[in-house]
Amino acid sequence: LFISFEGGDGAGKSTQLSRLADWIEQATTREVVRTREPGGTAVGQTLREVLLHGQDLGPRTEALLFAADRAHHVDSLIRPALDRGAVVLTDRYLDSSVAYQAGGRTLLPAEVEQLSLWGTEHLLPAVTVLLDLDPVHLPERIKGDPDRLERAGAEFHVRTRQAFLDRASADPQRWLVMDASGPKDQVAAAIRHHVAPLLGV
Ligand code: C5P
Repeated sequence: LFISFEGGDGAGKSTQLSRLADWIEQATTREVVRTREPGGTAVGQTLREVLLHGQDLGPRTEALLFAADRAHHVDSLIRPALDRGAVVLTDRYLDSSVAYQAGGRTLLPAEVEQLSLWGTEHLLPAVTVLLDLDPVHLPERIKGDPDRLERAGAEFHVRTRQAFLDRASADPQRWLVMDASGPKDQVAAAIRHHVAPLLGV
């Protein structure tokens, strides 16, 4: 079972991912693999460093590097884990690229999507949890020194949020949209409730 968590910065993806992972480990005997993008592999860590803390590379190079990170992530970690029956939970996947590299910047969504579909040999999650948060909440959610991409500006976050919502409404079978401004426990319970039947619990 392959599940991705998507949403803007500060929406609580990593918190909710680990809440769900802990619960699956306790409620089932399944192996659970927790990972993230960019940077789910050793090569990916290098790409993450270049993407988040390096010079501005321009939208096409950036999109290719995110897609390269994803291709390697799927090939070396996600697919082998799924093949041995593990549940794989990833903090960001292909939809982040469509939202950020297309929605947030200037590339065409279909092109960005095709690039990642090619890179991953069309691997899509069974469930994508969108932690939807109005960007007005961003300043209180992002603490410390935000990285380069988080400094992109309010407009950028409004566009990426809309891109996620558009993708979710185009494919309601795959997406679970959660209001991330709600209490964490309530959000976690709703996600568990959605995933439980897929695990037979
Ligand atoms: O969620 P995480 O903190 O790992 O994301 C790091 C940064 O990379 C975020 O600021 C996000 O805006 C950006 N990002 C991006 N395109 C992606 C994935 C992440 O611009 N495909």
